[in-house]
Amino acid sequence: MPQLNENFLKLEKNYLFINIAKKINAFKEKNPDADIIRMGIGDVTLPIAPVVIEAMKRGCDEMGAKETFRGYEDSGTGYDFLKDAISRYYASFGAEVKPSEIRINDGAKSDCGNIVDIFGNDNVVLITDPAYPVYVDSNLMCGRKIIYADSNEENGFAAMPDESVHADIIYLCSPNNPTGSVYTREQLEKWVAYAKKNNAVIIYDSAYEAFITDKEIPRSIFCIEGAKSCAIEMCSLSKTAGFTGMRCGYTVIPEELKFTASDGTEVSVAQLWGRRQGSKFNGVSYPVQCAAAAVFTDEGLAQIHENIAYYQENAHIIAETLNKLGVKFTGGVNSPYIWLKCPNNMKSWDFFDLLLEKIAVVGTPGAGFGKNGEGWFRLTAFGDRQRTIEAMKRLETLLA
Ligand code: PLP
Repeated sequence: MPQLNENFLKLEKNYLFINIAKKINAFKEKNPDADIIRMGIGDVTLPIAPVVIEAMKRGCDEMGAKETFRGYEDSGTGYDFLKDAISRYYASFGAEVKPSEIRINDGAKSDCGNIVDIFGNDNVVLITDPAYPVYVDSNLMCGRKIIYADSNEENGFAAMPDESVHADIIYLCSPNNPTGSVYTREQLEKWVAYAKKNNAVIIYDSAYEAFITDKEIPRSIFCIEGAKSCAIEMCSLSKTAGFTGMRCGYTVIPEELKFTASDGTEVSVAQLWGRRQGSKFNGVSYPVQCAAAAVFTDEGLAQIHENIAYYQENAHIIAETLNKLGVKFTGGVNSPYIWLKCPNNMKSWDFFDLLLEKIAVVGTPGAGFGKNGEGWFRLTAFGDRQRTIEAMKRLETLLA
């Protein structure tokens, strides 16, 4: 009989969004005519930019002709044309990343979850709480010790390092899912200094960097001096360019990132990850990489920014409503997420039930993202404009 990885049995039984779906279904059964507005799941709703779709079609046509057909990609790390484009994109906001340091993947979730493979299980893992659940789950799956840095109302949901605590692996996400908060340059400098002091690695999730409008806020950990010797960055085209259904992201592992193995030899993290991927991953489809490269052309960037601006305006509408109602929140600027404090000290799931039952609006209970999420609630700006306006009208009526 195979021995099971019983760490899986210790995971939360009900994944957050399954719970939400169950509640919605029960509500629909009782209220079949209810007009439900979903502001919960962080998926985009606008179609992909035309120039990106054209590039994908061209990629498909090439696959259908003998002269241009492509099978396995040699390196499995992504085509040079895409890595060059991403490298130039990084340069446009002040981060120096070489094409050879970039690895193309099928979205950030895979690498966020799989990166655990190249680190030992005795590491102390530090995760800011609340957090995108993948960081916690993937570490619990291999039985690791996790310590949490509290992101809360007092620190503006931007947890900072506790110098008296040691960590080996640190997960940071900015702009943050679920709280919408962003780290300033000074705050990131402190995290980098802490990582260096502890000889730790930062795993930096910048999936929402394209939503940053404030020029002072770094769009990459590599905008911070010294980060290349202590950080890995993961980013994605999912929210930047509507690729949630296309699947393409990228991970940056700098050449400088090296740690010492138990026998004293110096090991390059990029090489270790390359070895892991070489055995377990065969790359991203050619047409998708053609589409991804089109995102980073001048025309592509102009078109994706029209969609981002649409979501930003939704965020603005939500933020204005909350301001009017005197509800506290973070995010909404530099982020597609609005993280609000449940009125009257309600618990997250109680507020979820209230919104669903009274005004048929669905959000995400903050408690599902960690203990500091209790009493908070996430709304997303990824919905349709008119539906967002309608949801805010209903909220005003309910809370006024
Ligand atoms: N990181 C964060 C913080 C996210 O919120 C998400 C998706 O919601 C991802 C990574 C993964 O995105 P994808 O796998 O679609 O690239």
